[in-house]
Amino acid sequence: MNIDTNTGILGLIGYPLGHSISPLIHNYSLKKMNLNYVYLAFELKPDIFYKGIEGLKALNIKGFNITIPYKKKILSHLDQVDQIADNIGAVNTVVNNDGKLKGYNTDAYGFKKMLEKDGDFSIQGKKALIVGAGGASRSAGTVLCESGIKELYILNRTRDKAENLAQIWKEKYPDVFIKSEELNIDFYKPLMKKIDLLIDTTPVGMEPEVDVKPVIDRDCFHSSMLVVDLVYNPPQTTILKAAKKSGARTLNGMPMLLYQAAEAFKLWLGKEPNIEEWYQIIARKKITPTD
Ligand code: NAP
Repeated sequence: MNIDTNTGILGLIGYPLGHSISPLIHNYSLKKMNLNYVYLAFELKPDIFYKGIEGLKALNIKGFNITIPYKKKILSHLDQVDQIADNIGAVNTVVNNDGKLKGYNTDAYGFKKMLEKDGDFSIQGKKALIVGAGGASRSAGTVLCESGIKELYILNRTRDKAENLAQIWKEKYPDVFIKSEELNIDFYKPLMKKIDLLIDTTPVGMEPEVDVKPVIDRDCFHSSMLVVDLVYNPPQTTILKAAKKSGARTLNGMPMLLYQAAEAFKLWLGKEPNIEEWYQIIARKKITPTD
């Protein structure tokens, strides 16, 4: 790629950034599609967050991704927020339209597309159980409520956090039956029998601590459920192995990660990157992404 005076800038903001795959996949497609842009990573310290965002605007950066710990904090610096991002209360993608910043949540888009395309799962009328009550749980639960889930159960190690999320969803989505509990086998064992979709949004089983007990007991899975772990490294986590043994269908979080990136690319540039090529370069590089 020839960098010249017209080269546009895209990027990722977070702190700390870890080993993100975003620069690799976005720059691959920018080059392949002959688009005069580069995608850079900016580790922005919390005490200069606001100055950093103003700086991005001043330099007319076309768009950027936002990751931990800024997905909520960015909200107050935006001119506009997309409806689903507003409902979730978190933004991971920003588009800069001549100095006006609009925020989106492409994690939500990626999660839904993964369920439908890779999981062949239709959300309408189903019963789902989410484990974990952090940022990923917030996106996943909002998408399920927006898409017609019938019953939604949220379990978390720290009960208060599950209750808080459940309360938000109950107010926004009165037609959905929503219940929260502490992560406790006495509660979830009988419930699991009727669950169509289980989503593990905890980091349990993620590299390097792969040989751990799954967050849901191995005896509780059944063959007519879909089990999703948002962790993608390793591809077969402890919970996915246990679920597979019981005959359940399983998915890791890699498709979601790539779909959210592809949607951001499309929002910035109006063009679709080739996701199959992204799978190939990730496999070739044998990288272990954290975002
Ligand atoms: P987060 O906000 O820190 O939330 C983590 C949640 O996991 C909390 O509810 C926490 O419970 C629970 N948890 C942590 N350790 C646990 C343990 N040992 N046992 C039981 N529960 C435990 O994190 P997040 O941003 O939601 O991310 C969660 C995971 O999703 C990460 O692994 C991340 O890489 C992945 N993710 C993947 C994608 C994707 O595109 N595939 C996108 C976003 C996130 P407490 O409340 O009790 O602490």
